[in-house]
Amino acid sequence: MNVDAHAGAVTASIDRDMSVPRSLSPSGASTFRQCARRWKFRYIDKRPDPPGEPALRGTFVHHVLEELLAVAPAHRTLERARAICRDLWPSLAGNADFEALELSAEDERAFRWNAWRDIEGFFELVDPTDVDVVDRERDLTATLEGVPFRGIVDLVDRMPDGLRITDYKTARPPGARYLDSRLTQVWLYAAAAAALGDEVSEVRLLYLGETGNGRDIREPIEIARSFDPDAVNAAVDEHRITWERIADAVGGGQFEPTTGPLCSWCPYRDDCPEGRLEHQRRTGIAA
Ligand code: SF4
Repeated sequence: MNVDAHAGAVTASIDRDMSVPRSLSPSGASTFRQCARRWKFRYIDKRPDPPGEPALRGTFVHHVLEELLAVAPAHRTLERARAICRDLWPSLAGNADFEALELSAEDERAFRWNAWRDIEGFFELVDPTDVDVVDRERDLTATLEGVPFRGIVDLVDRMPDGLRITDYKTARPPGARYLDSRLTQVWLYAAAAAALGDEVSEVRLLYLGETGNGRDIREPIEIARSFDPDAVNAAVDEHRITWERIADAVGGGQFEPTTGPLCSWCPYRDDCPEGRLEHQRRTGIAA
């Protein structure tokens, strides 16, 4: 693996009309692998992708945990988390994206309950009073095998033998066959941190539990792995290959649609004939 730090300024112009983005995040790479056309709408055309209820809940929960881990260890209690929720709630409730959801009073209560369940899930997995916080929401910018990488790490904490990289998830935990692909994100963070000179000893995903509207409550789970150079290299290779495919797509102006179940939740379906047909085929509803 050939990694160099601080190359976020790299911009690879492909032609006069279109350029690849300055950097490739794990979520951007994942979007391209899912559907190149969706990626173009989002990252080249910069069309809005309004967050739905799950994404807004995730943002709120992340913000609460970021604030919680900023206070002195002894004060990182459930009571303190509850107070932070109360403090932060007005800014979310007044957010245009949240208002656009037009939740009923009952749905808003469910939203708050689900967010609180996520925070309780965090406390079930972690004793926050025993976390040696190095960084929260750390912005990582590095070059990984020639690819300008950028990512935001939820939590970096100190372990006896090095740093631990943690990403919180408020989404449904993956089935066993999808686990490796979900770990790709934290392996990339580990690669970037290593490129910046950190010694990483562990990565982990924390699935905080609740998955929506109180109907599908799952236990919070932790997926932790010791630093594994082979897994890191595999993740970096996949990222590089995705970057090369993006460069090819931009250079050729070709962004093929990949239709499937995700078309039904794609914000760009109205502008995608293949996606409209797929949605119609799956639901019987003309889009
Ligand atoms: S509707 Fe489907 S095929 Fe079209 S851009 Fe969205 S995900 Fe891709």
